[in-house]
Parts: sequence; structure tokens; C-alpha cells
Amino acid sequence: MTDILIEIEELRRAIREHDYYYYVLDQPLISDAEYDRLMRRLQDLEAQRPDLMTPDSPTQRVGGAPLAGFMQVAHRVPMMSLSNCYTFEELREFDRRVRELLGREPEYICELKIDGVAVSLRYENGVFVQGATRGDGMVGDDITANLRTIRTLFLNIPTAMPSALIDEFEVRGEVYYTRADFERMNTERIDKGLKPFMNPRNAAAGTLKLLDSREVSQRPLCFFAYTIVTGSRIIDEIPNQATVLERLKRLGFPVNPTFILCSNIEAVEDYWRYWEEHHNELPFDADGIVVKLNDLHGQDTLGATAKSPRWAIAFKFVAEGSITRLNAVTWQVGRTGALTPVAELEPVLLAGTIVKRATLHNSDELARLGAMVGDYIEIEKAGEIIPKALRVVTEQRTNDVTPIEIPIVCPVCGWRLVRDAEEVALRCPNWRCPARVVGRITHFAARGAMDIEGLGDKTVEMLYNAGLIADAGDIYYLTAEQVGALPRQAETSADNLLRGIAQSKNRPFDRLLFGLGIRHIGRNVARILAQNHPNFDALTAATEAELTQIPDIGPTIAASIVAFFKDDNEIRVIEKLRRAGLGQSGKSSVQMPQNLAGKTFVLTGTLERWTREQVEEAIRLRGGKASSSVSKKTGYVVAGRDAGSKLDKANQLGVKVIGEEEFEDILDALNT
Ligand code: NAD
Repeated sequence: MTDILIEIEELRRAIREHDYYYYVLDQPLISDAEYDRLMRRLQDLEAQRPDLMTPDSPTQRVGGAPLAGFMQVAHRVPMMSLSNCYTFEELREFDRRVRELLGREPEYICELKIDGVAVSLRYENGVFVQGATRGDGMVGDDITANLRTIRTLFLNIPTAMPSALIDEFEVRGEVYYTRADFERMNTERIDKGLKPFMNPRNAAAGTLKLLDSREVSQRPLCFFAYTIVTGSRIIDEIPNQATVLERLKRLGFPVNPTFILCSNIEAVEDYWRYWEEHHNELPFDADGIVVKLNDLHGQDTLGATAKSPRWAIAFKFVAEGSITRLNAVTWQVGRTGALTPVAELEPVLLAGTIVKRATLHNSDELARLGAMVGDYIEIEKAGEIIPKALRVVTEQRTNDVTPIEIPIVCPVCGWRLVRDAEEVALRCPNWRCPARVVGRITHFAARGAMDIEGLGDKTVEMLYNAGLIADAGDIYYLTAEQVGALPRQAETSADNLLRGIAQSKNRPFDRLLFGLGIRHIGRNVARILAQNHPNFDALTAATEAELTQIPDIGPTIAASIVAFFKDDNEIRVIEKLRRAGLGQSGKSSVQMPQNLAGKTFVLTGTLERWTREQVEEAIRLRGGKASSSVSKKTGYVVAGRDAGSKLDKANQLGVKVIGEEEFEDILDALNT
């Protein structure tokens, strides 16, 4: 294969994978700017070598896919994507093509490109009958029940309709969250221990995919309409896009009021420049402007490619990465003692929020970045709440920079740091290091472990600073007087906290084991161990040789467990837990609830935290069945990285597809 073919194939594979994470799982792995760069590169290569173009290339298709779990709707008129541009040259090129195809001076209408989720609403005789997502452009998901919950959408259109529209028409537009509602929702999610959404678009897509519309009704989704679609275009009554918007408004649909008409491309550029500077002041996210030929006759003349209309283009705002000065690097100590370098930045606006810190992951990543204090670095919002540092802007380096010091002692407790041969992170080896103690107890109380309501990191820190707890065992000896006397109960009332602690005593042994934070013991290994050794007595008595007899428990894990239960510090914690009644024989719940009974699962691709055997074992123990092929009877397809044809089959058959986290949630939900 030639180099160019190899690159094209690699790009197509990567884009398809990112489409899956973005459209199906709502968990993009890269930023939109990075995705757009990949797509751009593919478009350029395909333009150079048209002979290598294939109809299934991502440049030729609308990127989404209908989802499992919903009925599917075939769109009567396809829901298309928009072609993108990023520069004035590209915009002018679009203008040139439009003039050429149209044969006269065009009039444009510019609208904001709302960064939400495209939906189509079908009305019959003025009554809302069906709502759908874009899906792959041809077939979408029937989300009627979810859309009905949006308060600004009419279920019956109150105004008299123009005759040609009476029978049947579709309104298309964008469902979105305001930034304020999004922030509020994310704060709530973090408080509940749920993973926050990455951005408002992501949150809106996730909400529309919920299968329970009662849950959707609790969420403040909004809508902007931007077009009316009918079987035949009603050119006489509605000659242009401006009239479409005006008509939508008269019918009572929310229409974004920022649109303008432009008689030349210079006016379009001015509109873009204005919103490029001001879009962060809008109450919702917009990721560019959409430039459309105003005249609908003209739109018909120009037509569309396989993916997008020729009469419109999205001119995106400059990518959300920001450049700022690295003022210092500080080091955070986690529960295992691992140190994470954190960039302390000159405050900068990034994706609508002021950012002061970015993660640098570990000292190896720091070396890769090659940054020095005083450098300018480009940062980007990634999946995490804390943004990440992308690169040093070497062009802006001055003489006024100093090397980043790699610490030798722990910044919290002053112990000498160690670096294990096989690890990239520096570690503080002091078991009593305050940062490690607080981290350990927080982990013990967190979701997935003992799930103690009201015991988040702030409360743990307060209890620790007040000298009331020094390890997880102490939690169970807290009294109402002690907790009540604390200066300020930040996260919860004393009563609630004590109730949460008491309730946690009923958690199954595997959650307790996971909560102890033993090295190499994740949620899944803890489950396997608890099935074989259901309490502290059984587990402490087990030798390394015995433990390695258990399927999936290798020598590293076995050695880690035995070392843990021989450690004097850990023995003291376990004693406290036992005295409080935890981890005793007869109290464990080794017998898994059989809630997966009658359900069949199929795994495709590779999961991050589970081997295939572990997945099958976990399903079997809960009464479910793991199968290797997808059929209509399959309950769930668990899809991981590099998911293959089973995923396509599941989509075809309408079988529900879930990711790793959702799978774990299903197991955990049954486990509580
Ligand atoms: P798009 O989102 O760039 O543009 C098309 C959409 O714009 C339409 O479906 C429509 O819903 C919407 N829109 C908003 N306001 C509009 C208006 N006033 N008039 C008309 N349409 C309007 O294109 P796309 O095909 O939906 O998605 C591709 C984009 O999604 C990429 O450019 C990238 O930014 C992002 N993406 C990111 C990843 C990732 O991994 N990060 C993966 C896939 C896609």
C-alpha cells in the first residue's frame, strides 16, 4: 500500500471510532477542534487522490447513527449535516461557487450555529405527532416522549396555519441547554458522585437518549427552530429563509433572534467577526455561524451533496483552545501517594469559563511537554473538569523562563519521594501523609465503594483536621456530639452523615474490599475475591498460592493482597472495621442478586477494566447469560474499543448498546 492510502485508511478508522464515542456513547475522546483537524486532513487527501474516494468514507456521510433502545423513524426529507469552513478564504470560495451555480448575485442569511442536538418535529393538522433525532440523516430515533417534555414546544399549534401547511409539516431545529442550566446540572451530578457532562451539547444529547421521559421532564431542555420542511416546497407562500424564520416565530416557535440578511460576503464576514468576539456572552453555546442562501428557489437550484447542502456553510469560531502563561507548577498528592503536577496559570477565558489550572498528568508527561515556568502554553477543555495542557507555544518563549523543579520531598508531609522502577509517577511513601489519609478515606466513602452519603472530600478533610478520624475505621466511631460540634457542616447535616455511615455497614463485602484501596484491586477484582473469600477471616487466612488458584487472580494481585493484610497500619484499620461489625462472616452478600436472570448479553470490542472472561463470569453469577452472537433476543450489547460487526448487527436489530460504565452501573445497581 502507498503511504497516502495507509494514511487515508488510518484517518477513516480513527474518525469512525470518534464518531462512535461522540454520537453513540456521548463520551468524545478528543476535542471538536482535534476531530475537525482529522476530517480536514482526510478531505484534503481525498481531494488529491479522487481515485481513492469511497462512498462509505466519513467525508461522504452524516456522522451519527440511530441508537438501540428507540423505535426508528425514516426521515421523509433527509436531515443533512453542514459543510464547515474556518477561514475567510474558504468562505470566499463558498461564495464564488454559489455565484457560479446560481448565475446571479446571491443574498445570504446568517444565523448563529447553535451547538446542540438536531431534531425534527412532525405536526399533523397542527398537532405534534412525532419527534426524531437526526441519526445517520436517513433514519433517526423516535424521541417523541422526550421532546414532549420541552415546555417551549407546542403540542398543538395555537395560531391559524397558512393553508399549504395545514396538513403536515416538520419543524427542525436544535435542542440545547443554557450554560447556566448546564453548570447547575453538572454541580448536582458531581455532588451525587456521577460523572459530569463534558459540555452543554453533550449533556443535551445524553438527556434526549434517556429511556425514561419522566427523568427528561426534570431537566430544563430548550429549543430553537430554524426551518420548516414539507413534502413539497411551498415557494409562493414562503419564498425565502427569512420568511421561514418569521413564520416560525408567528406560529409561536422559539427562534433565535440574531439572524441578519447580507447582500454581500463582506457583510457575512462582519457578522462572523462580531459573534466570534461576543459569542461567549450568549446564554447558550454557539460554535459558529451558518451562512445560507436566502432564496429557496436558489437553494433548490444548488441542491446538495451526499452529506450537506451546497447552498449553506458553517463558518466556525476559532477553536476553544486558549493560550496563557504558566506561572508555576504545584504538585498534588493522591491516596496512593502518587504526585500529579498541576499547571498554575495566568487566568484565561476558555470555552466560556475562567481557567486557572490545568493538569499535567505526571512527570513523564511534563517532560514530553517540555514546558518551563514563564512559558506560554496552549490549553484545551478535555473530558475532565480540569483542562489539559496541549503544547508549549515555543514562538513566544522569552529569556525569562525557569526550569520546572521536580520535587525530592513530599510537598505535604516532607517525606522523601520514591519512584518505582515500573511507574511513571513519583510517590510519597508515607502512609500517614495527610493528603494520602484524606484521599484514602474519601475513596473508601465514594460511590462504587461504601457510598456514604454526605462524606465527600470536604467533610473528610474537616473531620481529619479536627482530629476525629485518621483512617476509614474511625468513621464508624463518630458520635453525634463530635460531628455536631464541627465549625460548619459543609456538605450535609450531622444526622444525615451519621445515617449515611450507619447504612454503609450493609454494603456487600466486595465494596468494602474495593474501598480499602488495596493496590491492583479494582471493583471487578474485588467482586471475584469476595465470591471466593466472603469475609476478612477467610481473606486474611488465604495464602498467595491459594489466591492464585482463583481464575483471574494472578501473582501480582495475590502478592498485593497478602502484603496488605500483613501491614501493621492496615491491620489496625481492619480491626476497627471488624469491631464495628463490618466484613464479618455471615454479613457478606456473596450470593449475588439474580436480577440479570433471563437477560442475554453480548460483548464486542475490548473493555478497559474487564477481560472477556470477567464480564461473562459477572453476568453468569447474576443469573444472566453471555452469548457470542447478537440476535433479536439479545438484551444488551456491551461495546468497548474497536467494537466490530456485532455492534452494527445490534444497531440493525435495535438491540440496546451500552458502554463499559453503563455495564458496571447495571451490575452495581443490582449490588446495592
Ligand atoms: P455540525 O454540528 O458541524 O453542523 C450541522 C448541524 O448544525 C445540523 O445538524 C444542525 O442541527 C446544526 N445547526 C445549528 N444551528 C443551525 C442553524 N441555524 N441552521 C442550520 N443548522 C444548524 O455537523 P455534524 O455533522 O452534526 O457534526 C460534525 C461536528 O461534530 C464536527 O465538526 C465536530 O465538531 C463534532 N464531532 C466531534 C467529535 C469528537 O470526537 N470530538 C466526533 C464527531 C463529531
